[in-house]
Amino acid sequence: MARIVMKFGGTSMAGTERIRRVASIVRRQAAGGNEVAVVVSAMAGETDRLVHFCREANPMFDPAEYDVVVSSGEQVTSGLLALTLQALGEKARSWLGWQVPVRTIESHAKARVENIDASAMIECMQRGEIAVIPGFQGISDEGRISTMGRGGSDTSAVAIAAAIGADRCDIYTDVDGVYTTDPRIVAKARKLKAVTYEEMLELASVGAKVLQTRSVGLAMKEGVRVQVLSSFIGEDSPPADDLPGTLIVSDEEMETIDMERQHVTGIAHDKNEAKIILTRVPDKPGTVAHIFEPLAAASINVDMIIQNVGRDKGETDVTFTIPQTDLPRAQALLEEHRPNIGFNRIITDDHIAKISVVGVGMKSHAGVASTMFRSLSDRGINIQAISTSEIKVSVIIDEDETELAVRVLHTAYGLDANEDAA
Ligand code: ADP
Ligand code: ASP
Ligand code: MG
Repeated sequence: MARIVMKFGGTSMAGTERIRRVASIVRRQAAGGNEVAVVVSAMAGETDRLVHFCREANPMFDPAEYDVVVSSGEQVTSGLLALTLQALGEKARSWLGWQVPVRTIESHAKARVENIDASAMIECMQRGEIAVIPGFQGISDEGRISTMGRGGSDTSAVAIAAAIGADRCDIYTDVDGVYTTDPRIVAKARKLKAVTYEEMLELASVGAKVLQTRSVGLAMKEGVRVQVLSSFIGEDSPPADDLPGTLIVSDEEMETIDMERQHVTGIAHDKNEAKIILTRVPDKPGTVAHIFEPLAAASINVDMIIQNVGRDKGETDVTFTIPQTDLPRAQALLEEHRPNIGFNRIITDDHIAKISVVGVGMKSHAGVASTMFRSLSDRGINIQAISTSEIKVSVIIDEDETELAVRVLHTAYGLDANEDAA
């Protein structure tokens, strides 16, 4: 007997037919006395539709009311899945965020899970009832509905798995695992049998949206065993217990998995950043603090920063990137603080992409960054900014060159699938 959390994403839950397929996968997992909790997303496209309604109703929407609206998509699918399981003769019931309860803290629309008291739900699971939980939603400390940021059902699933001490958290999606890069962009992307928490965290944070970044951080902290696998499978497919997908594992476990490790594990891209250049700012102590303090106070995350070499007259240019959605706010804030900062012009560009290569192998191997720069320059792709961490190199390029850059790098690092093996 095992205790398993199964999470199904939006494409898997899109319509009655697909929910029926999900119900049969859940039923197979529950067979043999396993205790099962299922976390579901809203139907694909539904959350976007709800966000759009909020914007139409009030462009300056109150995040607490936004949460009331956007959390509703998951309420629908959790009820529908419970009904479908009941139609198959299973015992099942839904547990909304406030019923579990999933207690959250911090702001609405980007709440964090603080604690989950799942004792009542566990009792029901022990009596053979399948628990169906709408992902993405919780209850704030004021007793109001909260949501955990886009893609947040992954985090709900991992948090539930940690709370109930699950043996495994299976994330069912529309691809059959984590690939060396988005398989929708590079046909030769290879499925990884395993990836370390650290690498997956870095890949997710630079754009591999197959898992929400927070869910990976939480899984790493709580030691939750996560598998990513496909829900688009037939009755004769290998069961999830045989681990057909990609496992997220610790460094130590990775050592024991028999696989040929590359210096680069994966490549991700992100088209959601924007670049700001402030020209002719005073080249003196305190200037960068004047620029970034108001942005930090407004919770605008700055990613890459470049300060150009100072030129004559004690002036320099400062370039940095922020999320595209924050660009109008950032511009307004910088204008407001212009007298303090003392720049000449603000130049903005939201037609950029960030391309990142990630791999723990970089820690012990030099030359990864230079391979990136050489491969991109050989294809005439201009690099506008660079940043690195211990296991990642990122560059900013023109958005139109995204797909080409990802493909070129995938080949350059020897990640392409062997066509004969297919
Ligand atoms: P869900 O609705 O199930 O949560 P998402 O759309 O959030 O699914 O995530 C799955 C998608 O992630 C895939 O369809 C794929 O296009 C994308 N993706 C991006 N990078 C990767 C990667 N490295 N491996 C697998 N999928 C990836
Ligand atoms: N439905 C939410 C979203 O689209 C949460 C999720 O699917 O993970 O962002
Ligand atoms: Mg997702």
